[in-house]
Amino acid sequence: MADTASDEGFLLAILNSTPVIDGVPADELADTARARAWLASVGGLGTEAELRHVLEARQLLQAAVRGEQPPDALAPALRGVTRVPAMTGGQITWTLSVPAERGLAVRAVLAWDALVTQSPGRLRPCANNECRLFLIDHSKANAARWCSMAVCGNRMKARRHYQRIRNTQAE
Ligand SMILES: [Zn+2]
Repeated sequence: MADTASDEGFLLAILNSTPVIDGVPADELADTARARAWLASVGGLGTEAELRHVLEARQLLQAAVRGEQPPDALAPALRGVTRVPAMTGGQITWTLSVPAERGLAVRAVLAWDALVTQSPGRLRPCANNECRLFLIDHSKANAARWCSMAVCGNRMKARRHYQRIRNTQAE
């Protein structure tokens, strides 16, 4: 899985946990024991409730990024999230207060929000429509189309090449 140390890396790992492997849709979080261990390893509680919230947020985030659902559908993922003020050193500081079992799900939703607000158009689905992965394009040109050049990029190029040959032969 992707580097999960940053919030953005964590978001991408969640979004990309339903790859298509050899033409078959897979779910890397389907095995509850393994999924819970992974959540614990990225700073979560590793509980079943936490996993449930992460899976719910994943489905909503994937649909929002694919444009299948309006982003407002993410609202339930933010239930119970508040900001708490504290007075220290003559200043007010605000801390996010999130029910513990929703921490990771909220982290993914906030990372998505930061990304679409600060870098609009950078997070998108892979242009290979048989691929279910997503990419975050940090390049200056912002023209990346594939989750990975090595996998989808070359595959799609090869396909276009064969189609060209076939079309030429058909003429
Ligand atoms: Zn792809």
